[in-house]
Amino acid sequence: MKMPTLFISHGAPDMVLHETPSHLFLKGLPKLLPEAPQAILVVSAHWETAEPRVTGSAAPKTIHDFQGFPDEMYKLVYPAPGSPALAAKAADILGATVDAERGLDHGAWSPLMIAFPEARIPVVQLSIQPDKDAAWHYASGQKLAPLREEGVLIMATGNTTHNLRAAFRGHYTSVPAEVREFSAWLYKMLSDKDHQQLQDWETAAPHARWNHPTPDHLLPLFVALGAAGPDAPARRIHDSVDFNVLAMDSYMFG
Ligand code: ZN
Repeated sequence: MKMPTLFISHGAPDMVLHETPSHLFLKGLPKLLPEAPQAILVVSAHWETAEPRVTGSAAPKTIHDFQGFPDEMYKLVYPAPGSPALAAKAADILGATVDAERGLDHGAWSPLMIAFPEARIPVVQLSIQPDKDAAWHYASGQKLAPLREEGVLIMATGNTTHNLRAAFRGHYTSVPAEVREFSAWLYKMLSDKDHQQLQDWETAAPHARWNHPTPDHLLPLFVALGAAGPDAPARRIHDSVDFNVLAMDSYMFG
């Protein structure tokens, strides 16, 4: 069965410890899928490379790529197997390099640990290229689309909005217009399947740079969108806002 593709807002790493609205949503994620995936190809905002790379390890390690969190966060392990075969296939499709050393960063394992706690489904991670644009990532997704027919779940993880400086300042007592208007624009463009406007988000979206001072947390979306194709319906499967600034909207395509 053909798998849909996902864009998941992963929020702060310690979402795994707290039953926030997005945590509870992720717990129910498998029930939204047509069947259990054969493998998961994760495109995380937290692996940035100049050219595409994929994790090739049969047992990818858990990377604790964050600072200042409680000790228990650094003991968490997500022991899902890798899939050297899927890594080789994805690398072949994209002309990517297979990285035998790299493990899974928190953008990958924190949502997976909540959604698939049994960690039985093989996981391969694909890097993003922050120096390349949305169209580049969309094209990568288009090339990966055939994997969906093989039961591979393409799961992109970033954040709908990601102004960390505003989030850390913590003085917002309600969700500011910048966040509401950007999230509403994204919802409308995805619902309208206006993939061209979406790829032009830096100039077309309201408060684009305010919400994404750097593009890394939005770029994974374009891989999911390209893999879904121009006619795939978009469904918003979750919306909430953490710290009044980080919009946690998640989408399913196809
Ligand atoms: Zn992140």
